[in-house]
Amino acid sequence: MTAQLIDGNALSRETRADIARRVQTLKERGLTPGLAVILVGDDPASAVYVRNKVKACGETGMHSVLETWPASMTEAELLARIQALNSDPSIHGILVQLPLPGHMNAQKVIEAISPDKDVDGFHVASAGALMTGLPGFWPCTPHGCMKMLESIGYELRGKHAVVIGRSNIVGKPMAMMLLHKSATVTICHSATADLKAMTLQADVIVAAVGKRGLVTADMVKPGAVVLDVGMNRDEHGKLCGDVDFAGVREVAGWITPVPGGVGPMTITMLMANTLDAAEQSL
Ligand code: NAD
Repeated sequence: MTAQLIDGNALSRETRADIARRVQTLKERGLTPGLAVILVGDDPASAVYVRNKVKACGETGMHSVLETWPASMTEAELLARIQALNSDPSIHGILVQLPLPGHMNAQKVIEAISPDKDVDGFHVASAGALMTGLPGFWPCTPHGCMKMLESIGYELRGKHAVVIGRSNIVGKPMAMMLLHKSATVTICHSATADLKAMTLQADVIVAAVGKRGLVTADMVKPGAVVLDVGMNRDEHGKLCGDVDFAGVREVAGWITPVPGGVGPMTITMLMANTLDAAEQSL
């Protein structure tokens, strides 16, 4: 079997075109959705991420503000900037790019963002809302994965989904979203005794670890859907995921590539959250 590709670029283009139409409608009513992106320090990967986020705002017709601050910025200064943006009516979403410099408490910084503007979905209020099924912003990467499953018409009810990774930004919210769709969910992590025994039972595998080649063909049930969140570099510096794509695509039913899979959908869902925040502000 050769798996069908879930094309994150194509789905992103479609979704962003729809977002752009909704932005235009809002603008005609006098409101331009605005996203503030704060980057502290000079991490090169973070600089690329924030550039792509700001670019996506432009493409969908949204207003964006990029604030770049030196790593020497104090936590109190950053908290003060967030407070100012919380009360800025032209800003509907606030994103602080992680990781932050070591002298800052990232959780404290995230908690300073108003939950109404928490478009990354990392605030405890957002996490609690997702957990309990209340309205709130969902973290963009797992939300993008859900949209990818939706795009292929995949019925999760009664299926077994195995999420590899238990981070607050990907693994845990991913598991919660799958659970809301009535999948039976297993979360695997660094202390899981026999990962292969788990993944072999999975109808859906979401790999969110950050280890190249972690999921190999012998770990995948024929026909399973494999979503690869991982972002790693191979020995030539080329971007690759956690899944051995060449091998697994011969076994899986559906698979996401890296690059061109979950990555673009993450930014697309950030645009969707910012638009929702703007609409809710009306
Ligand atoms: P993290 O480091 O916070 O979490 C990694 C998780 O993997 C941990 O929960 C750990 O228990 C688990 N793990 C480690 N080794 C394991 C093993 N051998 N077997 C099973 N589980 C193991 O990382 P994160 O922030 O959740 O990100 C995970 C990956 O996803 C990274 O590669 C990151 O770059 C990528 N990522 C991609 C996007 C995107 O837009 N495509 C967004 C966020 C994160």
